[in-house]
Amino acid sequence: MEIKEHHKCVIIGSGPAGYTAAIYAARADMSPVMITGMQPGGQLMDTTEVDNFPGYPEGITGPVMMEDLKKQAERFDTEVRSGFVTEVDFSGPVHKIQVENGDWVSADSVIISTGASAKWLGLESELRLRDAGGGVSACAVCDGFFYRGKDVAIVGAGDTAAEEATYLAKLCNKVYMIVRRDEFRASKAMQHRVEKAENIEVIFNSETVEVLGDEYVVGAKIKNNVTNEEGTLKIDGFFVAIGHKPNTDIFKNWLKMDDVGYLLNKPGTAQTNVDGVFVSGDAADKTYRQAITAAGTGCMAALDAERYLASKGIH
Ligand code: NDP
Repeated sequence: MEIKEHHKCVIIGSGPAGYTAAIYAARADMSPVMITGMQPGGQLMDTTEVDNFPGYPEGITGPVMMEDLKKQAERFDTEVRSGFVTEVDFSGPVHKIQVENGDWVSADSVIISTGASAKWLGLESELRLRDAGGGVSACAVCDGFFYRGKDVAIVGAGDTAAEEATYLAKLCNKVYMIVRRDEFRASKAMQHRVEKAENIEVIFNSETVEVLGDEYVVGAKIKNNVTNEEGTLKIDGFFVAIGHKPNTDIFKNWLKMDDVGYLLNKPGTAQTNVDGVFVSGDAADKTYRQAITAAGTGCMAALDAERYLASKGIH
């Protein structure tokens, strides 16, 4: 293969993990090149208010925060490139990355911050209200606050849904939990927390037919998949917690990952199983998935990459 360019550090992905890695790498004279990915800015571009990122007393919108992070990374000479990576070759010692026009670049160190994508039900009404900022969300911790004292529904029966339902129960008047089978997938401990919350009503064997509302969510039409009986829930917010998919398919021939695709890092570091390849953010995090934790691991990845380059005598 013909290599067009060589860099000390290539960062793949442009969410809070990628930009934080870029800020640290650039300040360490690693001249990082960032390849933004299909959704520049990552999942926060789908968020309205971000009220839980330290340092913004009045809150900030996701897109504005990502623009600020981009400016900060560029202030320290990060080269931000639009585009996405189609293939990698981590056979080493120099790592190779192919971008969408077919060109290959090489890098002494690679920081992966490709994130994860929330899964959605795929209903037209759900996606329309999500895109309009009309009360459909895949993150209760991010958006639950806006439904203080109101009635909401959450779909899913795993640990995330159970955890988010109990989180919402503390803020909201009533939480309907829509579960498609007659049992939870969540651990017993998480189920008990749901059962103990007096304002959570679990609706088993049920699926969402439609999220109701023109501009804002006003309800959800649900159907019992055993009796086929339909009913309507009056709600102001509709949360989806049916799992995430890490964006790691292009790494599967090279990097160790769990059965869902979350990359495995050496505990306490950002190091993957390949020397010089580091991971940060949601691509390796199925538990916390917050902008601040992604930023923290982005910093770790850049510091680990800097030490790696120093150990190889690359300056
Ligand atoms: P899971 O894949 O574990 O659960 C997804 C849930 O969504 C399942 O109950 C599934 O139903 C349901 N679901 C999937 N598709 C649909 C659909 N189209 N319509 C309705 N329901 C649907 O994902 P989680 O995000 O909950 O958890 C991911 C991993 O992270 C797990 O390993 C979990 O244990 C871990 N985790 C741990 C936490 C903790 O320990 N505190 C917190 C959060 C996550 P069904 O059961 O019928 O398949």
